Amino acid sequence: MSGDIQVPIPINEPVHSYAPGTPERAALKEKLAEMQREEIEFPLIIGGKEVRTGKTYKAVMPHRHGHTLATWHMAGKEEAEMAIRAAREAWREWSEWSWEDRASVFLKAADLLATSWRDAVNAATMLCQSKTAHQAEIDSACELIDFFRFNVYFAERLYEDQPLSAPGMWNRLEYRPLEGFIYAITPFNFTSIAGNLPTAPAIMGNTVVWKPSRPAVFSGYYLMRMFEAAGVPPGVINFLPGDPRAVTEAVLNSPDFGGIHYTGSTGVFQSFWRTIGENIEKYQTYPRIVGETGGKDFIIAHSSADPDALTTAIVRGGYEYQGQKCSAVSRVYVPDTLWRRIRGDLLDQVSSIPMGDVADFRNFMGAVIDEKSFDDISGYIEHARGSKDAEVLVGGECDKSEGYFIRPTLVQAHRPDFKLMCEEIFGPVVTLYVYQESEWEQALQLVDETSPYALTGAVFSEDRKVAAEAARRLRYAAGNFYINDKPTGAVVGQQPFGGARASGTNDKAGSMMNLLRWVSARSIKENFVPPTDYRYSYMGEE
Ligand code: NAD
Repeated sequence: MSGDIQVPIPINEPVHSYAPGTPERAALKEKLAEMQREEIEFPLIIGGKEVRTGKTYKAVMPHRHGHTLATWHMAGKEEAEMAIRAAREAWREWSEWSWEDRASVFLKAADLLATSWRDAVNAATMLCQSKTAHQAEIDSACELIDFFRFNVYFAERLYEDQPLSAPGMWNRLEYRPLEGFIYAITPFNFTSIAGNLPTAPAIMGNTVVWKPSRPAVFSGYYLMRMFEAAGVPPGVINFLPGDPRAVTEAVLNSPDFGGIHYTGSTGVFQSFWRTIGENIEKYQTYPRIVGETGGKDFIIAHSSADPDALTTAIVRGGYEYQGQKCSAVSRVYVPDTLWRRIRGDLLDQVSSIPMGDVADFRNFMGAVIDEKSFDDISGYIEHARGSKDAEVLVGGECDKSEGYFIRPTLVQAHRPDFKLMCEEIFGPVVTLYVYQESEWEQALQLVDETSPYALTGAVFSEDRKVAAEAARRLRYAAGNFYINDKPTGAVVGQQPFGGARASGTNDKAGSMMNLLRWVSARSIKENFVPPTDYRYSYMGEE
């Protein structure tokens, strides 16, 4: 880093409302109509070049799966090896770029996304991931803009952290990019994560092979084109939608593999870790392993909780984006006394949630991502229906004839260890357990011990002492803990995000902690007055 150069102090990108009559609503609707009129074809982008494999897939809309948005080419082993070579080639220059030049590329990406690219990236996200306008705006526009701006700001602060120097010398820390390339492998559910996983290592001077998730390649392609428009040089980020197993096998077999930046389900991450362990002798350096994975996120309500705040948190936290947020409320613990007060209102609200085509802005929910998810989620609902240990209180209707629609579903479990209280479902299903008001202590223990995950969680209580007790008892139950708020909607720079236990390595996306994983520091000591005699003074004659 040179001189007094400083990146602008970031502020969170303001969220557009898309309320009736606003110009942003009209512009977004126009973009949605345009994207639905056309059907595009797109290639892989490796070393800045378009590559077409001829093995193609269709990108469809989850809420109308008969509608094709695009045909895309699928990478396999050969293309993965090409992408590795391209990343290695680009590394030579990119790893030598000055910090401020790299920062300017990503600050430009932020401004492009905030202006001319906003509608395209939001509309692509709405159509291919079935997000409402609001859910797309807070994800693919605001959160990703924040990732770019805050990451360059945090990188600058990281570089500023320098050691002390004793008299006669100068000590420095050089934050080198890692040797080798980084494998960014991204989930379907957040376009912002798809954008952040390849760019965070690139901001620190690394080059990247990026494999987006199959249902989200359409919005991923727009991101890739936006990176190019921002000035990301060829080969720094290689766009490789492809066969997950074949691409991953090629990547994890490469001696140049320098690290993985992953978000997705827990089992897949564990399989990567195993393979990396088996291959460890092949690598020129110990790879960095960063993964944010599944969750079984909770709300625990105390008898002193505000009933309306709790009800709203369950509805928004549980069903927004069809419950397909890693942070979505999935299990709720309510005392019997409070349950009697909120039951009617909660059921009314859940049953009245409007669901349908996301291009119709009156809807609160769209469809779940694909047929496999639809089948998995409806399987859980069937399990609840067929069990004496649970009751489906509201919802449960599933229909995949036109789109993968599952009504928001509330299940009451009669046992705290019922399957739906323990496993990640990743859909619009909230399971609730009613405990005796006098058993608050035991309820806290259940929250802590019921699931292997520890991503997000919330306590609702108007009694400060009780909230503090919950925060203490649940210290390791969530990496993002909320008091009187829903456990979703973390904002970059405000609530650094990530969980521990089976939920990941907790390297907090969009923070200095994450960026630190993408550098390997070199200590440099320069001696201005080096000794010229090997003998120490204690060795002198008495
Ligand atoms: P997923 O595990 O199905 O896919 C994630 C990525 O891994 C995709 O790119 C996919 O193609 C790839 N993949 C899948 N199977 C693979 C295999 N056998 N070999 C190699 N690659 C493979 O996850 P998803 O459905 O896209 O996302 C949902 C999951 O992600 C949930 O478990 C959710 O909790 C988690 N998630 C976590 C966070 C977080 O910050 N903790 C954020 C978002 C999503």
